[in-house]
Parts: sequence; structure tokens; C-alpha cells
Amino acid sequence: MISIAIDGPAGAGKSTLSRKVAEQLGYIYVDTGALYRAVGLKFSRIGADTELNCDIEGTLKDTKVDIRFVDGEQRVFLDNEDVSGEIRTPVASMMASAVSAKPPVRAFLLEMQRLLAKENNVVMDGRDIGTVVLPNSTVKIYLTASAEDRAQRRYDELVLKGENVTFKEVYDDMVKRDYNDMHRAIAPLKQAQDAVVADTTGFSPEQSLELLLKIVREGLENR
Ligand code: C5P
Repeated sequence: MISIAIDGPAGAGKSTLSRKVAEQLGYIYVDTGALYRAVGLKFSRIGADTELNCDIEGTLKDTKVDIRFVDGEQRVFLDNEDVSGEIRTPVASMMASAVSAKPPVRAFLLEMQRLLAKENNVVMDGRDIGTVVLPNSTVKIYLTASAEDRAQRRYDELVLKGENVTFKEVYDDMVKRDYNDMHRAIAPLKQAQDAVVADTTGFSPEQSLELLLKIVREGLENR
């Protein structure tokens, strides 16, 4: 099976671009951030805050996360409830980042991700796909852009959805989340040694997709 690993910081456009790359290749797109977001949502539902002073393993035993593909679109289920919309709020982003630093949470989600790549050709995006989840993936890309560009894109997205946020809140949250993701002890966000860097600062969505497709095509040709 072929796997394209796309890692990078928040707001780099990973999900939008990965989905389009998968469409072009006829592969399945797996958004692993959604899995961490679903686990984060579970912990906020039981009343935990980002400190997670609670029984993590016990809660996970009582948690079911799965993804289903409806018309080719990934939907995320938490305890059999479709939470694909609910996991997208700024609060859910912070909870996802908090739970993702906990080793039992990463172990809980690891096999599911590997199994998907074992059974399907995938474009999988996240923070540790090329480094930990699929270290032998066919093509590895580290997708990034300046923090200002990434925050602006995320801000525009949230405003479009009717969220009441300021640019500064989005920027500060993003920088904090990136810091957490890069400095956690387990599976921190970092560029895999053999990843190709795609820096889309100042690029339009079309230019970013073109760059990514070029890297993927070259990677597939040279495999
Ligand atoms: O990609 P997204 O912004 O939806 O991810 C939400 C959070 O989930 C990230 O900030 C990160 O903490 C965590 N995550 C992770 N490993 C992945 C994907 C996401 O730790 N492979």
C-alpha cells in the first residue's frame, strides 16, 4: 500500500490540501487530528480541563473513537455519536492538544491509524505521521507557513463559520498549541529527516496544492 504522510503545525492547510491530494490520487484521506479532537471532547464531556487531573486510562477504557467514510468524506464518531462538527471549536483544539501529550492517548489511537494505512492507500495528516505512525511512508511532507499566515487562514475559516473570535485570540491559541505540540515528550511535532518541506507562506490555496502535488508526484516516481 502507498502512504503519503503530511505533518506540520496548526493552520498550515494540512486537511484541506491533504483531502485534495487524496482526491486526485484516488486514495483515502485520514485526518488524524480529528481523532485527538474526539478524545479531547470526551475528556471535556466528563468535566476535565486542560490539566487532565483525572483517570486517563479508566476514561479511555470507556471511550470508543472510530472513523467512517460517508460518500468518501471522513466522519468521526465518539461513543457512536457523529461529532465531526463539534470537534472543530477553539476549545476542542486546546483539549486535543492537551490529551495528545498523554502517552495512553497516543497508544490508544496508534493502531487504528496504522491499520487504516495497512488496508488502504492513504494520505494521512497529523503531527507524527512521518516520524512515528508510518515511518516507512512512501512520501513524507512537512507542510508549514509563517505563523501570521496560518493564523490568518484559521481566523478567516472560523469567522466564516460564524465563530466569535479575534485575530489575536486565534494567533495566541495557535502559537501556544504549536509550542505544546513541539515540546511534548512523546511524538513531538518535528520534521522527519527524510521529509520534503513545503513552505506555503504567501501562497494561494491553488499554489499550495500545486506545490504539494508536485512533491507527491516526484516522490511517487522516485520510490
Ligand atoms: O490537526 P489538528 O489541528 O486537527 O490537530 C489537533 C491537535 O491534535 C493538535 O494540536 C495536536 O496536539 C494533536 N495531534 C497530534 N498528533 C497527530 C494529529 C494531531 O498530536 N497526528
